[in-house]
Amino acid sequence: MKQIFTLYLFTICCFAYSQKTNNLSFKLDSMMPVRGFCIAAPQSKDLNEFVRFIDKELAPRHINTLILRVEFNFQYESHPELRDSDALSKRDVRKLVEVCRKNNIRVIPQIDLLGHQSWANKLGNLLKVYPEFDETPLIKMPNKYVWPNADNLYCKSYCPLNPDVHKIIFELVDEICDVFEAEAFHAGMDEVFYIGEPQCPRCSGRDKAELFAGEVSAIRDHLAAKNRKLWIWGDRLIDGKTTGLGEWEASFNNTYKAIDLIPKDVIICDWHYDRPDLTPVYFAMKGFNVVTCPWKNVESAKLQVQDIMKFRNHSTPEMKDRFFGIVQTIWSGTGQFLDSYYGRKKENGENTQVNCFNAINEETSKLALIK
Ligand SMILES: [Zn+2]
Repeated sequence: MKQIFTLYLFTICCFAYSQKTNNLSFKLDSMMPVRGFCIAAPQSKDLNEFVRFIDKELAPRHINTLILRVEFNFQYESHPELRDSDALSKRDVRKLVEVCRKNNIRVIPQIDLLGHQSWANKLGNLLKVYPEFDETPLIKMPNKYVWPNADNLYCKSYCPLNPDVHKIIFELVDEICDVFEAEAFHAGMDEVFYIGEPQCPRCSGRDKAELFAGEVSAIRDHLAAKNRKLWIWGDRLIDGKTTGLGEWEASFNNTYKAIDLIPKDVIICDWHYDRPDLTPVYFAMKGFNVVTCPWKNVESAKLQVQDIMKFRNHSTPEMKDRFFGIVQTIWSGTGQFLDSYYGRKKENGENTQVNCFNAINEETSKLALIK
């Protein structure tokens, strides 16, 4: 009798829990439609643990969007010359696709286009293999990288007007979208410092906003032909001087005027890591769908959650649905993040990626449940 009673109690609890979870999921879909996580695609040694992390940690927290920065960490068949030396195989990617499909998580693969073609003193694979695509070929990579530097070198860019560059990058984009079965692609396009440079015979003297918008539109049009959406970071579309947001999370080189030149169906990832700036409203008022992106600042991230919910509650029907949600960005390696998450290595301080991850998810669920 006691056993039957225990079983009965257990069944009731399971039912109540699943009702609560379903109820929360339903509420979240209307209050915060995009609940996202953005991280580098794992190295092959970390793949299995990352797959488990998706299944056991992301899914129960109702994360429904995973932006994976793949870059050259895939064994591209269209361009084997651009693969990293240790790169994910098709079979590896299948594991990621399957665990995400099982948990209704949409995967959006990313390759940095236009900017971020180098990091510190290392060239990225595209310009290493195809130096003719370099927007600033006269600027040599330093042995030791420091910022600031005389060349204003943050990251290299490719030349968007080079007649051969799009064939290659679009083949990469198509292949990575196919293998991830993706309906959207993230092209990065943040922090583009080199654009329309005097040393480029094609871009010199051209309007930087038009060059930036031209590249966004070209990528968007390519994706649209296969019914795919383009996601990009938002910083180049914000006026850094007028807003006081500076040259990193906004633009000092006039690319911000591109906001009026690009198609409205590009989804904007509006990152702010120190303050919950209210720029999602700016993007939504310009007609764009937008997600707010925190990193590791716990208090700021909680305010970003509250802001998106508030914007959705207090906007016109036309504007409301443009506030898509929130995507936390992780900027350590995936292995390093997993080490911290599972307590194998301790991060110092309160404002850590792991604390922020937990805070965002707790805040989102709390607000959805009291609604
Ligand atoms: Zn150029």
